[in-house]
Amino acid sequence: MSNVLEVTNLNTTFATQEGDVKAVNNVSFHINRGETLGIVGESGSGKSQIFMSIMGLLAGNGRATGSVKVTGTEILGVATKDLNKIRGERMSMIFQDPMTSLNPYLTVRRQMTEVLMTHKGMDEATAAATSVRLLDRVQIPEAQRRINMHPHEFSGGMRQRVMIAMALLCGPELLIADEPTTALDVTVQAQILDLLSELRRDTGMAIALITHDLGVIAGLADRVMVMYAGSIVEEGAVRDIFKRPQHPYTEGLLKSMPRLDSHGLNRLDTIGGQPPNLQNLPTGCSFRDRCQYAFERCAQERPLLHGIDAGRAKACHLERSLGPLMGDAA
Ligand code: SF4
Repeated sequence: MSNVLEVTNLNTTFATQEGDVKAVNNVSFHINRGETLGIVGESGSGKSQIFMSIMGLLAGNGRATGSVKVTGTEILGVATKDLNKIRGERMSMIFQDPMTSLNPYLTVRRQMTEVLMTHKGMDEATAAATSVRLLDRVQIPEAQRRINMHPHEFSGGMRQRVMIAMALLCGPELLIADEPTTALDVTVQAQILDLLSELRRDTGMAIALITHDLGVIAGLADRVMVMYAGSIVEEGAVRDIFKRPQHPYTEGLLKSMPRLDSHGLNRLDTIGGQPPNLQNLPTGCSFRDRCQYAFERCAQERPLLHGIDAGRAKACHLERSLGPLMGDAA
């Protein structure tokens, strides 16, 4: 399987008056064609900043180093003009709030056709017909009429669909979805996840799904990458990680998620304590103050991400395996 996205040794730092904040620490990963990679972690874990770095959307005080290749082309540090072309044609991003990417003053028709006329050289009539087809595809009822509406005239779920249609205009090979369903009620959330799943199947695009919600990951992702304090702490196939997490932080996240098992709804645990200050990361393991398994070595040596099984890696000094979660032991 070929990689759509290849990230190597990505570091993202923000300069502040109090000193540098290391938001992303030496992160490397890839996403295959047609694959959905879930990126999960608490807020401040660096999960969104990885993709803001990739899209060239960091705040003015942010700086990213390392290598990011999209379908084989290096994009980190390229001129804005070249990045704009790649952003329009090979990758696009959707956000929790559709108004981040929709202009409230312009009709949907104007916003969609302009993209196609600029990036694909279409005339207005062809661009409008293509846009209506895409709105149909994302299940906007009466697309022919509604394309002339402004974003605020759509409901929250419908606006999300419009934003997805906008993101798909140029047929991207990579769609980055940052908390795409967080603001929606549960029924609409499920509809949007189904839609993303169908679109991936039909187009073969890869999806990077950023979320704090493991339920969303379970519904859509093939693989998952767990982030903590700017670093990857565990990665692997979704079914393996959900059944038998091997990093104490992943275990804590899963135990804090409502799950039905043979005994009914499980008791919810929480992870005590707070994530560390990114300006002043502790020596050793960043999770050690919150980890029930911490031992001497954890305070002295930073654990590096290392393979523990086929397609599976963790950044933890524990050599023994953690047990399966309650209800999955059989
Ligand atoms: Fe816990 Fe130590 Fe593993 Fe860190 S390295 S997660 S402190 S056991």
